[in-house]
Amino acid sequence: MKFVAGLTCHLCGATYPAEASWVCTDCLGPLEVSYDYAAVRGAISRSAIESRPPSLWRYLELLPVHEPRTGFHSGFTPLVRATRLARELGLSELYLKDDSVNHPTFSYKDRVVSVAATRAVELGFQVLGCASTGNLAGSVAAHAARLGLPCYVFIPHDLEPAKVLGAAIYQPHVVAVDGNYDDVNRLCTQIADRYGWGFANINLRAYYAEGAKTMGFEIAEQLGWRFPDHVVSPVAGGTLLPRIYKAFRELRDVGLVSGTLPKIHAAQPAGSAPVIKALEAGLEFPEPVKPDTVAKSLAIGNPADGFQVVRVVKESGAAGAMATDDEILDAVQLLARTEGIFTEPAGGTTLAVTRTLIRRGVIKPNDSVVVCITGNGYKTADVMFDRVAVPTRIGRGLADFERALGARVAQQAAAARA
Ligand SMILES: *Cc1c(COP(=O)(O)O)cnc(C)c1O
Ligand SMILES: [Zn+2]
Repeated sequence: MKFVAGLTCHLCGATYPAEASWVCTDCLGPLEVSYDYAAVRGAISRSAIESRPPSLWRYLELLPVHEPRTGFHSGFTPLVRATRLARELGLSELYLKDDSVNHPTFSYKDRVVSVAATRAVELGFQVLGCASTGNLAGSVAAHAARLGLPCYVFIPHDLEPAKVLGAAIYQPHVVAVDGNYDDVNRLCTQIADRYGWGFANINLRAYYAEGAKTMGFEIAEQLGWRFPDHVVSPVAGGTLLPRIYKAFRELRDVGLVSGTLPKIHAAQPAGSAPVIKALEAGLEFPEPVKPDTVAKSLAIGNPADGFQVVRVVKESGAAGAMATDDEILDAVQLLARTEGIFTEPAGGTTLAVTRTLIRRGVIKPNDSVVVCITGNGYKTADVMFDRVAVPTRIGRGLADFERALGARVAQQAAAARA
């Protein structure tokens, strides 16, 4: 907080103090935290950061809180060098930023919630809430439990059962709305206004978004304080992608990393791709769509930060692509088989889109590429059941096993001949 200059309107540039405001009173544009970068530059160093605990709070000078209150083990997830997957894709330098093992709720949302919940306490909010497609509900509920704050999470009524359980287990009030995410979000805006509760992704959104930067900080640090050529990011509400770029720009501005900024490519499911459609049509502001996709975490038809995604994709010289449900689930299986990582369909979406960008020649064989894996497959296991082999059931004797093994080997031989 020491280095926070204030909040700046993204559209008209008006400035505000860093309080609980979230839209510009002049033009209704979203507000963004700005910092005194010259002061940060004098106060921060690679070695100071490296000496701190491995959590997202190691970048405190570039985060909008006084002192962490939760998320002490959130962030600093593995950056996995994916050599077997790289070989299948025809790449030489591929990494996976693996937020499927983020703490405590196994998705990228633990980053944004650590920051928003801490700031909520600092601003004196008594109740924490969110409008969620699933992962955010779990993360807000867990962090609220940790902070001892009452919590209300709002979700569409048709989420995966494990996502609902993954929020309910922390005993918040879970409210399932008869409608899609965009309906939930609209309702929550009214509730935040009337009750004065702190909604992570509504009236605390400026702080929430800052938490997403930590994924970019970590990617650069874990690569040895350098930038990759490409990052492929999923897009739902559009928080993450522009903040990865903001993080890279800040690292350059404060003198921690030099070099060309990466291209940040956008990945969306074909059944919910307002941003990709806007990029293809040359629109500055995406037009809302009605989502219908297996990737429920990404099923946001009217993304709050959609125009920022469009702007950053263009500014960084990147591209976007969409993936069908089949391509998404194929990619989930490919990642599991080659790298031993089980992601949810959101991660399948980024990997499927990475394949498309390679095929289109946007990503070249010798480029360095980071693919963001933002959620864990165990929460959405139901979508994979009919894609995995059923166990081979046998009797208890060695002969039973060998008969089964024989049958299996014979089957494989037949399949190979076909
Ligand atoms: C929320 C979420 C995203 C992306 O969200 P943005 O709103 O675009 O920041 C990506 N993957 C998963 C698994 C998510 O839960
Ligand atoms: Zn404004």
